Amino acid sequence: MKYSIKSALLCVCVAASGHALAKNSISDDKFRQLEENLPTPNTYRTASGAPGHQYWQQDVDYKIDITLDDEKQTLSGNETIDYTNNSPDTLRYLWLQLDQNKLADNAGAKTTRTAPKKKITYSGLRNVIQTDEFQGGYEITKVTGSNGKALSYVINGTMMRIDLPKALKSGDSVELNINWNYQLHEQKVLGGRSGYEYFKEDDNYLYEIASWFPRAAAYYDVMGWQNKQFIGSGEFTLEFGDYDVSITVPADHVVAATGVLQNPKDVLTKTQRDRLAKAKKADKPVLIITPEEALENEKSRATKTKTWEFEAKNVRDFAFASSRKFIWDAQGYKGGKTDTMAMSYYPNEGNPLWEKYSTESIIHTMEQYNKYTFAYPYPVSISVNGPVGGMEYPMITFNGPRPTLDKETGEKTYSRRTKYGLIGVIIHEVGHNYFPMIVNSDERQWTWMDEGLNTFLQFVAEQAWEEGYPSRRGDAANITSYMKSDNQVPIMTNSESILQFGNNAYGKPATALNILRETVMGRELFDFAFKEYAQRWKFKRPTPADFFRTMEDASGIDLDWFWRGWFYTTDHVDIALGNIHLYRPNSQNPDTEEAWERALENEKPDFISKVRNKGQWVRTDDKPQLLDFYNEHDQFTATNKARNKYNKSTAKLEQWQKDLLVDERNFYIIDFENKGGLVMPIILAVTYADNTVERVTLPAEIWRRNSKVVSKLLVREKEITAIAIDPNWETADVDVSNNYWPARPIKSRFDLYKRKKKDMMRDYNVELKSADDKEEKKTEDNAEAEQQ
Ligand SMILES: [Zn+2]
Repeated sequence: MKYSIKSALLCVCVAASGHALAKNSISDDKFRQLEENLPTPNTYRTASGAPGHQYWQQDVDYKIDITLDDEKQTLSGNETIDYTNNSPDTLRYLWLQLDQNKLADNAGAKTTRTAPKKKITYSGLRNVIQTDEFQGGYEITKVTGSNGKALSYVINGTMMRIDLPKALKSGDSVELNINWNYQLHEQKVLGGRSGYEYFKEDDNYLYEIASWFPRAAAYYDVMGWQNKQFIGSGEFTLEFGDYDVSITVPADHVVAATGVLQNPKDVLTKTQRDRLAKAKKADKPVLIITPEEALENEKSRATKTKTWEFEAKNVRDFAFASSRKFIWDAQGYKGGKTDTMAMSYYPNEGNPLWEKYSTESIIHTMEQYNKYTFAYPYPVSISVNGPVGGMEYPMITFNGPRPTLDKETGEKTYSRRTKYGLIGVIIHEVGHNYFPMIVNSDERQWTWMDEGLNTFLQFVAEQAWEEGYPSRRGDAANITSYMKSDNQVPIMTNSESILQFGNNAYGKPATALNILRETVMGRELFDFAFKEYAQRWKFKRPTPADFFRTMEDASGIDLDWFWRGWFYTTDHVDIALGNIHLYRPNSQNPDTEEAWERALENEKPDFISKVRNKGQWVRTDDKPQLLDFYNEHDQFTATNKARNKYNKSTAKLEQWQKDLLVDERNFYIIDFENKGGLVMPIILAVTYADNTVERVTLPAEIWRRNSKVVSKLLVREKEITAIAIDPNWETADVDVSNNYWPARPIKSRFDLYKRKKKDMMRDYNVELKSADDKEEKKTEDNAEAEQQ
């Protein structure tokens, strides 16, 4: 960054000159409109991003009876599917998802799994071996129509096609009956988003059950049947419908599930029912099952069973948890019109963390998300502690963090990381009720549509929990190292092909939305548009185009450049400060201009010979007669001829033109270079000689004709003494060292150490090895599967 002073004619157009326009090809045009990339609007989905007047979606209701076998860890059931075809199309067959077949022999999830790297954890290697050995997947024992006649079907991996005896016309319904069973798996060993946990100390199981029944695949206008195989990353999108589920478990188990318990008198004690009634109006969680009662339950071994009946209306899936180890607390909450019961189920192993934070976090999430979307519409909202690190289903979430046992004191304790990990994961998973459990985006296609939007609101909600909450994702500065990494793909990548899963589908879109809100659109316009999207698409199925279009439609801002840069490319933000020029109008007055030239000349340093020759003998010392007129005359003297010419020419000017010639203000031209490729607004903190600071925002459109270099003219009375680009680190600029004038040193530390003799040989070996390790790290996919 050079600070140079130049003279110039008064001409504002100099700001745009100075750089030859780069020859941008069409594909380099960062502001090229997105229309050609987006699907053509139609009567189902409009150009405004709203559902069209003929929008439709299927309706699928379920009645399911199941039995959980706590001896063999199996689940068996029979279900009736009532499928209504609201599409304009005639359907000859229905596709069902059999997600449990992900663990069957020859499943795509097994066969397409790539080899582990040289370095692998114990649990990682155990997982590789046991996944191969595990005999999972459904046994389908019956598929019939409502008349009891067997229907023909084909199972293709995790998908099952049932051929209808009579084509299902638009507006018609069909009933199917399916009987099935499968072996549950130990989640801590095989992973995944459900399974059981075994507690050796008290010989008990805790089940978190999801993706457990054959579910109708989504059929919709953009995709047709969403029958893409389940390999593991792309979760699901299903149809909304009503569920009637009866769950038979050992009589001493407690069941938490999507929906409202229909038979409390059959499965709960009078005390428990009384406590639940009290919890409805309580201002803090009320224990329905106390820690002591849970410890007692752990010891029992019921020989009988009980059946828990649940009903859930207008949900896209159903999940549940069951164990005799559960402590259970509850607190009523009313956000909109619906009375909601926030409830937590956790074993004693979860305390002292869970009793303090779980239910509070559920209510906090609903309070915050309601503000930015719509009122939580369901009657329950549940957080269960079990083996799954973090996973969401309608009305119910599975959350993993637990305290640890301090071996010295024998007391349970938790780290800062665990505390915020628990609050964060509950906010995240409960938040998923909004995206994608209600705003039903297609997760098998786009992970970012639910994870990105949800992680963004998670950040907003976390910041409303306590001042300075240590959010993992959302802060622009936290995404910069990912943004400049090599091993990445655009956000607009199918869920199964994503590299660096957590950063790509959670962190980057969440940060992008934060930047949209804080830097590009402003909170007022962003919040309105975001809420409009949530309102338009609640209980419907949006696609990326519906989101992009709604955000523009409701805000009046063309954001195509933003979607293009952040969602369709892997460019990063790096805007550098270039030269700063200070201009003044050329006054044309020879006296003023000659004086200015003289001052400029005097500012120049003397050449080194001149400095050293100073005082040396010169010929004219002895022979002054060699000096003449030119030795006396100041070359920067205005001549009368020049003065006359100036008087004559200015006489023709109007007063406002004369005023401009003597304008004393500073005309700063500041050059910027876009090194990262991603166009962004340029945010400046301009400091003046009187120490005041001005924030200047130059919208991203400043790059519209040249996305590589631009200059901006600032006309200021005061003298500028310092300039900083992005002073609040709000744009995810990956290299801030080129953001300052005057430049700032980059602060760091030398790590000093003593070298031991025996290390010398080892160092040599490490050096040989480090080249290998670097290669390995580069290709490692840091899929963050814990928080789904
Ligand atoms: Zn998630």
